[in-house]
Amino acid sequence: MLAKRSLEKEDKSNIITLGSIAKKLKSEDPSVINSTIGMMYDEDGKLFVFDSINKVLNDLSNEEKFAYAPTEGNKEYQEALKKWLFKGHYDLFKNQSIVSATPGGSGALSNSFSNYLNSGDKALLPSYMWGNYKQMLYENNQGYVCYELFDEYGCFNLEDLKKKAYELKRTQDRILIVINDPCQNPTGYSMRQSEFRNLIVLLNELSSDGTNVILVHDLAYLDFDVNPYFVNRSNLELYDNIKDNVLVILAFSGSKSFGLYGLRVGAMVGISKDEKVLEEFSRANKFSSRSKWSNTTNLGMNLISKIILDEKLLDKYIKEINYVSNLLNDRANLFKALAIKYNLHLLNYKSGFFLTIPTNHPWEVYEDLVKEKIHIIPMDKCIRVTLSSISMVEIERMVEVIARIIKLHS
Ligand code: PLP
Repeated sequence: MLAKRSLEKEDKSNIITLGSIAKKLKSEDPSVINSTIGMMYDEDGKLFVFDSINKVLNDLSNEEKFAYAPTEGNKEYQEALKKWLFKGHYDLFKNQSIVSATPGGSGALSNSFSNYLNSGDKALLPSYMWGNYKQMLYENNQGYVCYELFDEYGCFNLEDLKKKAYELKRTQDRILIVINDPCQNPTGYSMRQSEFRNLIVLLNELSSDGTNVILVHDLAYLDFDVNPYFVNRSNLELYDNIKDNVLVILAFSGSKSFGLYGLRVGAMVGISKDEKVLEEFSRANKFSSRSKWSNTTNLGMNLISKIILDEKLLDKYIKEINYVSNLLNDRANLFKALAIKYNLHLLNYKSGFFLTIPTNHPWEVYEDLVKEKIHIIPMDKCIRVTLSSISMVEIERMVEVIARIIKLHS
């Protein structure tokens, strides 16, 4: 019954399938370690919920919770997001940027591919990545080419990105690059400011012959970097240097930053020097949103905007998000210290929900770890450990086992 292109459609995402196996086993046996879920859990194994969010939830009117919202999002939300994302650089970007609400970062990524690549075009994706990018591209009849995320020193591989971009330029009239920064999923890598600066030089260079260049900056984990205030926002400030036919799209996720995973709230924020590019951004993305999901939840948008625009609530929220980043950092430090002790090699982790361990036999490692009641995600040439969903006690138990099994399959 399926149409031709849909015959191949099957969600083979390990994260969803293996995550639900782990969840079921853990509900039957609490000693199972479920290191698969990209949600934040406290040390007692409970989903972390922001008190500040709950406080606003109780105070919202029925209208604010349940009424339909405008397709592009309500004005308050659009303004609040600019304030949150650009912080000290708000004045610089307020007229060079435009916000379109989406259900999570996923909606922002999906619209970016729909509106900035033609059918048959290819996007440039990092070699280690969140696999859903590929699925979204397939949905749009588009493809991808991978650039190596790391160079030989474990730093951002700008040279390979440059090479792949110039190769792609021979066959299509536009270049769309996806980066996920900071706290890259799955590696936990965060780009240094100099790497960002060089990336912007490359974008401008690629566009110098009139090619349209689009950078989709997936910042789902923006607020979990070790130093979110100073480092990340000063990276964003560098977007003031983009040339006229470069468009940057920030894909914001309310799932991660505000713990609103199931509420489906996010946004795409276009940054351009050209007013006409921003007008088109608004028009085409509104059309796509209307045709795909109609509008984003008013409840989600109002929860976020009330927090950002109220000084006291914002203060409370910032304390909570700092608590979460510090907890992740503690877990990561413990994991790294034990990895050194047991001679376990990690890819270049800096911060965030996930870290990765390279292996040529991810599935064999996965199966052996399951026998030890440890659930991780096997990926291409690595396994992913989710730090956000495990406790310090569980880390103490798992690193030695992982090291032993990785060695067995090396
Ligand atoms: N980008 C990355 C790298 C992710 O890991 C996720 C979710 O896991 C998303 C984007 C999208 O999240 P959401 O649609 O829930 O905002």
